[in-house]
Amino acid sequence: MTATGDPRSDAQALLANLRAWGVEEVLVPMRISSGRAPAKSGSGKAARLAALRGEMGDCRRCGLWTERTHVVFGVGDPEAEVMFVGEAPGSEEDRQGEPFVGKAGQLLTKIIEAMGMSRSDVYIANIIKCRPPGNRNPLPSEIGACSGFLRAQVEIISPRAIVALGTFSAQTLLGTDEKISRLRGRFHAYEGIPLMPTYHPAYLLRNPNEKKQVWEDVQKVMALLSGREPAS
Ligand code: SF4
Repeated sequence: MTATGDPRSDAQALLANLRAWGVEEVLVPMRISSGRAPAKSGSGKAARLAALRGEMGDCRRCGLWTERTHVVFGVGDPEAEVMFVGEAPGSEEDRQGEPFVGKAGQLLTKIIEAMGMSRSDVYIANIIKCRPPGNRNPLPSEIGACSGFLRAQVEIISPRAIVALGTFSAQTLLGTDEKISRLRGRFHAYEGIPLMPTYHPAYLLRNPNEKKQVWEDVQKVMALLSGREPAS
């Protein structure tokens, strides 16, 4: 959804978007607003993220550097309360250097907007920062080389909740081989932070009937942020 600047038109467009999702009830946490101010100066998070990106440099810590166009570090508010974590960049993300900008990314943007936020209110990153050739699954050695960067991003941002998008992200962050269909729908923990696994937007493009389950999952995240749901 693109904002028009007219509050009434924007609200009508958002409601139409939600109706298309089959959403009948909207719970908007009081601590989140789509017009959120930029990162507070002096918090140091933006500077620490920039330093981490500088430390990565033209990273060659695993073999994925040979075929990448860009290192896809992450994007969003360093003060974000919610982090979305996917698997690895696809071709469009590799080309643009930003996570979730292809068709699946557009759907993720709609999910975020349905939660009452915008992309600039949250932080979006992947576990692997360079595109695996042919979008194959990352190798254990590549995960081992790269996952420390994601861990550092989480440590710096210290979000109140993490949404793990898809099987690979959820299984890697939780250290399990449990199916995403069994992991989703309840909070787990990553480094002490509540983590909600849910389906990847690319999966939703192929299986639109599962959108309601994703909506249920993100509703729980919104309830957690507003203090209405414990992370258990
Ligand atoms: S995937 Fe990660 S570890 Fe491998 S080259 Fe890219 S940034 Fe470095």
